[in-house]
Amino acid sequence: MTASSFRLGDVIDDYCPRCKLLLNHAVASMVEGKVVKVVCQTCHSEHPYRNAEVPLKKRPGPRTVLFEEVLSKSPPVGPAEAPAEKLPEEEPLAPPKKKRAVTPARYISRHATRPPRSTR
Ligand SMILES: [Zn+2]
Repeated sequence: MTASSFRLGDVIDDYCPRCKLLLNHAVASMVEGKVVKVVCQTCHSEHPYRNAEVPLKKRPGPRTVLFEEVLSKSPPVGPAEAPAEKLPEEEPLAPPKKKRAVTPARYISRHATRPPRSTR
């Protein structure tokens, strides 16, 4: 089998950057027997052939990398926190109390609290 047995117009799987999915594509252009461009059969957008490779997801951001770094450096869970052989008895769930606002509602006063400006 040659490098590529595709012909123009053949349906070929490829990743569509517009649909962001692996979809059917039609071979739109070929160079030396290799598919160069394809047309998405779903959105009809033409784009270079990507060998049906789905691009990797976005690289983790610097924050994620740092977080992972910290996690990997943090010491393993100590013996005190190791899973106990006996499962702690589940505490009976207290009846849900109605949440009360810690701070009382603020009243919005329409009266001016500032003293009137001194006119000069
Ligand atoms: Zn598409």
